[in-house]
Amino acid sequence: MANTKQIEELKIILLDRKEKINRNIQGSRDSIDSLKDSECKDEFDYAEVSSDSFKEGIIANQQIKELNEIEDALKGIEKGTYGICEMCDESIAIGRLRAKPFAKFCTPCREIYEAE
Ligand SMILES: [Zn+2]
Repeated sequence: MANTKQIEELKIILLDRKEKINRNIQGSRDSIDSLKDSECKDEFDYAEVSSDSFKEGIIANQQIKELNEIEDALKGIEKGTYGICEMCDESIAIGRLRAKPFAKFCTPCREIYEAE
């Protein structure tokens, strides 16, 4: 079980990551907006612009997903349920939390979950 000090450290990592993602999402929104604003002179340019926006969109979606997981982890810290596997209610190893601070499952459950 992660102790208070370890949880504090992980909380700092989570908050830092959250801030970076928020900044990234804002940054890609700005660049999509500027792409939309730029005039498309021919078909080729248009294809370039839309495929870039598409890629930006996928990256943004992944980041929003990660952001939600970080939010859940931060809520868990407040409620005192952080670091407990959602599947088996066992404590998640500190090593695993350090590698992935918003992990919801312990290593054995994660393997089962991924195999299914
Ligand atoms: Zn588990």
